[in-house]
Amino acid sequence: MTSASVPVSAQLFDRACSAIPGGVNSPVRAFNSVGGTPRFIASAHGYTLVDADGNEYVDLVCSWGPMILGHAHPAVVDAVQRAAVGGLSFGAPTEAEIELAEAIIERVAPVERVRLVNSGTEATMSAVRLARGYTGRAKIIKFSGCYHGHVDALLADAGSGVATLGLPTSPGVTGAQAADTIVLPYNDLEAVAAAFAAHPDSIACVITEAAAGNMGTVAPLPGFNEGLRTLTADHGALLIMDEVMTGFRVSHAGWFGHAGVTADLYTFGKVMSGGLPAAAFGGRTEIMNHLAPLGPVYQAGTLSGNPVAVAAGLATLRAADDAVYAALDRNAQRLGALFGESLSAAGVEHQVQFAGNMVSVFFAERPVTDYATAKASQTWRYPAFFHALLDGGVYAPPSAFETWFVSAALDEDAFDRIAAALPAAAHAAAAATPEGSRA
Ligand SMILES: *Cc1c(COP(=O)(O)O)cnc(C)c1O
Repeated sequence: MTSASVPVSAQLFDRACSAIPGGVNSPVRAFNSVGGTPRFIASAHGYTLVDADGNEYVDLVCSWGPMILGHAHPAVVDAVQRAAVGGLSFGAPTEAEIELAEAIIERVAPVERVRLVNSGTEATMSAVRLARGYTGRAKIIKFSGCYHGHVDALLADAGSGVATLGLPTSPGVTGAQAADTIVLPYNDLEAVAAAFAAHPDSIACVITEAAAGNMGTVAPLPGFNEGLRTLTADHGALLIMDEVMTGFRVSHAGWFGHAGVTADLYTFGKVMSGGLPAAAFGGRTEIMNHLAPLGPVYQAGTLSGNPVAVAAGLATLRAADDAVYAALDRNAQRLGALFGESLSAAGVEHQVQFAGNMVSVFFAERPVTDYATAKASQTWRYPAFFHALLDGGVYAPPSAFETWFVSAALDEDAFDRIAAALPAAAHAAAAATPEGSRA
């Protein structure tokens, strides 16, 4: 190929690889599990992503969840512009931080105090530290296939990018850092009861995704989250609901408002950031007051509560009214129905799975309920499915182990494009073979 015929995205990827490890700043963006070169994005508006070559895609990733209103929503852009003009960072408190904390408290009843941080990773790391500090216990329980960010102690058997790369855990996480992490199968309450029996008075907390979305979409089975609530309470441990993905997406009050139980601590990120770096954790006053400066558990951040990020988050939450949540629910159901129609017509065994308005498709005979069944699905069909959609102008998650995220901006035109692209993708999935890899 002459350089003129090499797509701009491919040229940029080449250049990126000389400056950034793997050319990306978060592994799943690299397309490793689907093959090909990642699209470099030039701009985004509403439901549309535009890449560096000028190709347009209907976006079904939405920055991995935050963009529920669609991209460059006027109210959010306006709030960010106003905040920026007023100064980018002060390292001192602002009124807007109170407003964002109050907005979260108002929406999620069990949350009485909130601390703002910069990423979901920081939120879960801090919540686990607080749980350990509060209980004076060391051990934690997490579930296989649940991803809580790249916290050392939580990387054990995590889904998402870790699943895609097939790393059991990560080099650099020492035995000592992971030694107090007990990893159990998702949706298995008996395993949790057995762990509490085996380690009396030494488990600080159970951390779980409110509904799992990082091994594909796997909702908690009826009674699972409720059982975790009972078991943790019975054994003096805290329950941490990780709502970084579900929070303010699956309802006004996240999974808590959809089908939630009352946890001790919650972690938030993604939607409440409005697309800028912001996240939070919160819970009961009595627990949160163990944080410095009131208590001994240290937690801090130079840019925490950043005024521009807070403005984006607040504007997003304010714009996310009942009509937005109704649209998200409707759009997810509509997308799931289109998956079902096209894959059934192509004769591909599949499961369309929902957790509220999160949706994903597994090439499997039976419903996927945990990480073992997710990994046993025919993930080798996914690269062909993904690339046919991309060729058809639909941007899907570049990994079989991810949730698909709809926005409220999807309209009839967007669904026409999705419906037009899906039949070819379904046929590509049908024609794929376990050995087949895309040239
Ligand atoms: C995305 C995610 C995180 C990590 O958030 P980052 O902002 O990427 O650090 C944690 N928990 C869950 C459930 C997530 O989906």
